[in-house]
Amino acid sequence: MRIHWHRQDLRLADNPALVGRGVEGATAETPVVGLFVFDPAVLDEAAPPRLAFMLDALDSLRANYRERGGELLVARGDSETVVADVAAELDAALVTWAADYSGLARERDAAVRQALSDAGVDRHAEHQEVHHKPGTITTNSGDPYKVFTYFSKKWHDRQKESATEPPAAADLAAVNGRLDGTAAGEFLLSELPSLGELGFDQPEADIPTASTERARERLDEFCASDIYRYGDRRDYPADRCTSRLSGYLSYGLIGVRELYERTEQARAAAESEDERESVHEYQDQLAWREFYTQVLWDRPDVVTNNYKTYENPIEWDDNPEAVQAWKNGETGYPIVDAGMRQLREEGYMHNRVRMIVASFLTKDLLIDWRVGYNWFREKLYDHNTANNNGGWQWAASTGTDAQPYFRIFNPMTQGERYDPDAEYIKRYVPELTDTPAEVIHEWHETSLGTRKMHAPDYPGPIVDHSERREAALSMFERARGDD
Ligand SMILES: Cc1cc2nc3c(=O)[nH]c(=O)nc-3n(C[C@H](O)[C@H](O)[C@H](O)COP(=O)(O)OP(=O)(O)OC[C@H]3O[C@@H](n4cnc5c(N)ncnc54)[C@H](O)[C@@H]3O)c2cc1C
Repeated sequence: MRIHWHRQDLRLADNPALVGRGVEGATAETPVVGLFVFDPAVLDEAAPPRLAFMLDALDSLRANYRERGGELLVARGDSETVVADVAAELDAALVTWAADYSGLARERDAAVRQALSDAGVDRHAEHQEVHHKPGTITTNSGDPYKVFTYFSKKWHDRQKESATEPPAAADLAAVNGRLDGTAAGEFLLSELPSLGELGFDQPEADIPTASTERARERLDEFCASDIYRYGDRRDYPADRCTSRLSGYLSYGLIGVRELYERTEQARAAAESEDERESVHEYQDQLAWREFYTQVLWDRPDVVTNNYKTYENPIEWDDNPEAVQAWKNGETGYPIVDAGMRQLREEGYMHNRVRMIVASFLTKDLLIDWRVGYNWFREKLYDHNTANNNGGWQWAASTGTDAQPYFRIFNPMTQGERYDPDAEYIKRYVPELTDTPAEVIHEWHETSLGTRKMHAPDYPGPIVDHSERREAALSMFERARGDD
């Protein structure tokens, strides 16, 4: 028997390690059983929105196994003990899993490797949650790319592998109570735990259904039309024309090969060069995901440290009231507030707005990017360390952005440009429902009297953007050691 230890690859199809593609020792004679472990160290890092999404995904994965006569064992305990004990008790010849690149995951996996080795069980980690193994797309001198553009070109040029089919019934093992009454069996949960049983509250946000079936439906809907206007419209949050697949990708409900193949089919069906270019732009976002995965793999310390080195420490401000106003969506900057409220209501935020709110926190409020990263980590159901960290550090000018520290978004002009009719803003900020878009986009310069007349319950701006822009520039100049 073989065990496939699922972590952030909660699917059967396009899961090469699960079906043993390229895995030495995975033969037709070694049917596979799935295993998922609720590890206290991982739960310590969890938050309700993504845990709720993950529980739903596990429920669906378990159903998919059972439909085929297989089983997903669900356990609670330290990964290294559970995986090794279950493998030993089932007399498993091999344990497979999909490689994970954060520092914490790598430490955990090293411990599991050691425990399996001590128990005499073979193990194999497959690099399958990205197309190209981190560290294989490099500069000519063999270093990982620090700038996306060059990485992206090579990423697009590389051949992509094809997706694998889900395992057939004959490839799946049934465990049939073999662990009952054993020490390993003590770790197993017969039912999936609830959020409450795991020690978490219900999320504040409405979280979407998490299943491979739903991911595929979403992908089909997207590839039928929105992918062709993605290039032009992806920055306009009111349009909702992006794929909304981030949560499904973060938890591996859909594999990257299947997703890419589907976009290639959409490219083949495109009716113009513009449409083909739009598909390419979508694929470019998939490359961003792999770029940030590579950054995290290369520099696991970025989770807490700046990616970029400044001469002096950046003197971030400490202003709990301003942070609270930002979290509540009460800064008096409408596009920022709409984004922050979308985050709380949906556990999601549109990418353009993520950039705007991140720039606002770090460059208008001068608050350390780690505060924003942690808030997103708590509230996003699609949180993943590489993308969240990459996005925050990019916005804070501490990351991989090729533009220097003086990229500072003006939240008013961003709102006017990307939400001209204030449709997105009004969707999330009901106090502004009856306010004309022109007034909304001038809110920072509107007199108190006019503000009270239009939207008495909506706050005025908590900071003056022009002043804060100058303060941010000085803060970065001091950090750079400029005179
Ligand atoms: C401050 C900040 C924090 C972010 N945090 C996360 C996060 O925790 N999890 C997350 O998946 N994405 C994060 N992103 C990236 C991006 O905002 C989301 O992936 C995107 O909004 C998800 O919506 P979508 O699936 O409709 O994206 P689409 O536009 O349809 O893109 C398709 C996929 O490409 C990937 N992608 C798109 N944009 C980016 C990007 N800029 N960087 C990396 N990958 C990208 C995602 O996997 C996404 O699902 C963050 C961006 C910023 C600026």
